[in-house]
Amino acid sequence: MFQTKRWNLMNDTTYNQRVINDAAELLKSGSTVAFPTETVYGLGADARNEVAVARIFEAKGRPTDNPLIAHVATKDQLKKLVRVLSPVAEKLIDHFSPGPLTYVLPSNGMCATNVTAGLSTIGIRLPGHPVAQELLKQCDIPIAAPSANISGKPSPTTAEHVWADLQGKIAGLLDGGPTGVGVESTVIDCTQEIPIILRPGGVTREQLEEVIGSVMVDPALANAEDKPRAPGMKYKHYAPEVPLWLVEGSLQDVIDAQGEKIKRIGVMASTETASELQADTIISLGSKKSLNDIAANLYDALRTFKEGDIDLILCETFPELGIGQAIMNRLKKAASEYIMEK
Ligand code: AMP
Ligand code: MG
Repeated sequence: MFQTKRWNLMNDTTYNQRVINDAAELLKSGSTVAFPTETVYGLGADARNEVAVARIFEAKGRPTDNPLIAHVATKDQLKKLVRVLSPVAEKLIDHFSPGPLTYVLPSNGMCATNVTAGLSTIGIRLPGHPVAQELLKQCDIPIAAPSANISGKPSPTTAEHVWADLQGKIAGLLDGGPTGVGVESTVIDCTQEIPIILRPGGVTREQLEEVIGSVMVDPALANAEDKPRAPGMKYKHYAPEVPLWLVEGSLQDVIDAQGEKIKRIGVMASTETASELQADTIISLGSKKSLNDIAANLYDALRTFKEGDIDLILCETFPELGIGQAIMNRLKKAASEYIMEK
């Protein structure tokens, strides 16, 4: 058990630098610290230190065959972790980093083997959030960081989410307010001639194709029978406390059909859909017109429905375009049923 230290960042650069320096010292000494990134909060540890990295897996209850992403501040630091950097990978880095894109590249073995789960490749990201940037600069070491939640639960988009899951299990938490993007980074395998999206996320397929031409998508993302290339994608994730049904078609029809069978129904929907519904609890995810808002509000909504208050959550589907691909990927994983209107 830890006395988890919690630092609240403020509008005071000198104060923030001092606090981030304290957090960097903890990381350098082998402890775990959670920090905000532009996607979700990450739980960091020194990526070169096997014992420190093991603390992440223990705190989260994460399966050890699921590799971690190494976070660095600069392209030069990234280069120190890889064997080679192909021209296409370099082009992606120059265009999208810092930002919500993770590159799977040939590892040179600098990071501990539990970071890569023994693979010959390593996932690396340069986060754009100013707190993450400052922390990585002050550490000057690669920081392994998965999302700062208990494995299987929705990822944390606020410090409160991290606190609820990991208080007492980690050394520190930097509270930098809500994250912006709300879903995790896109993971792209750059070891093949044509890069392959292993996980949809903050950078969309359309944005990638504008820069490097055609990219492939791991077939396992569309077909549950295929083995995913990113080990983490085989796990069920983002589970709320209450069963969730993803509904393509009229939510009101499904609510009405349940009648007395299910007592308390909660709904997650766009503002437009929510305004036409009657249910016990309705959480609006934002306007249909802004899938970015829906992504930013998704995990907080999943965490808001508590066992005991609600018996079933219904959620509408969204177009699988742009960030909608990441939203639907997460919702399908969170859902226990996918209901399609005939
Ligand atoms: P998380 O940090 O929880 O957001 O998950 C990171 C995701 O990246 C998981 O799905 C991992 O399986 C995937 N990943 C990390 N490193 C690699 C790698 N070297 N090869 C393939 N997938 C990876
Ligand atoms: Mg995660």
